[in-house]
Amino acid sequence: MNHGFQCPDCKTLISYNDELFINFFKSNLVNCVYCQKQLNIWKIFKDFVNHSVFGEHYTLLGCRYRFKEININPLEKFTLDLTEEVGDGYLLFINYNSYFGGVFPAEFIKIIPPSSILPKRIELYGCIPDKDKPVTETRVRIFYCYAPSQVIDDLSMRLILDAFQKYYENNYRHMVISASTAVEIAQHNFFSKILKTDRVSDDKIKTFLKDNATFSSQLKVLLPTLADKMKFPMLNEQIKNDLINLRKDRDYLVHKGELKKDWDVDKIKNELISSLFAIKYYKLVLDGV
Ligand SMILES: [Zn+2]
Repeated sequence: MNHGFQCPDCKTLISYNDELFINFFKSNLVNCVYCQKQLNIWKIFKDFVNHSVFGEHYTLLGCRYRFKEININPLEKFTLDLTEEVGDGYLLFINYNSYFGGVFPAEFIKIIPPSSILPKRIELYGCIPDKDKPVTETRVRIFYCYAPSQVIDDLSMRLILDAFQKYYENNYRHMVISASTAVEIAQHNFFSKILKTDRVSDDKIKTFLKDNATFSSQLKVLLPTLADKMKFPMLNEQIKNDLINLRKDRDYLVHKGELKKDWDVDKIKNELISSLFAIKYYKLVLDGV
């Protein structure tokens, strides 16, 4: 199963890939490769955030959504081993679905250290839902989603994944801190590399970015100037404004310990989606220049 989203018009699954983001950054619109309808993927991503029942929302971050089938017998143990599939990544979500009723797999919970990461080896037990109805060996379909090592190893992606998780836990304060730090890392890395020249030492660039060009002046002055001179697309106004709002929310939060009185979930959601797009933008522009 691929990771992607449905075209709202022709309902075909469109894969998330870098080309999709590159086209969006160039023109703000992407054509569906099947029906050619123009799609605003930022808006589609925002709508997709609510599709969290089966963990599909993690696919927005490049996490992999997979399924496999096993046979399980009544009153017998079964060890589900996803070590090879998940590799060095993190298992984020798992769901079991028995065909036509039958045996239902229950997880053996022994001692599990507190963690939002699920174990890759899971002990299952074939429960009989109704003792008066005999059941036999049952086919069970397993859906699971995991963050591959490419997401885990990249600190800005790891933090935006954390921000998504906190958003679903309604922990918006933590979400703001994680999303803001994720963007800050990606943005700092971007400017450090793009400003790199033999004439100025890395330390001087670092000092300039830290002391002379604030986060918002990097966005409002430095980025459009470089985009113009170096001929790469500029982040659109909405994303830029969301990032500036996120930064303000973060600053208020670290000083006061709470969000501003006028915050609302929709604004926070905009900031979350724009953070993800900004991280993709900084990486793809760097790759392209
Ligand atoms: Zn379409």
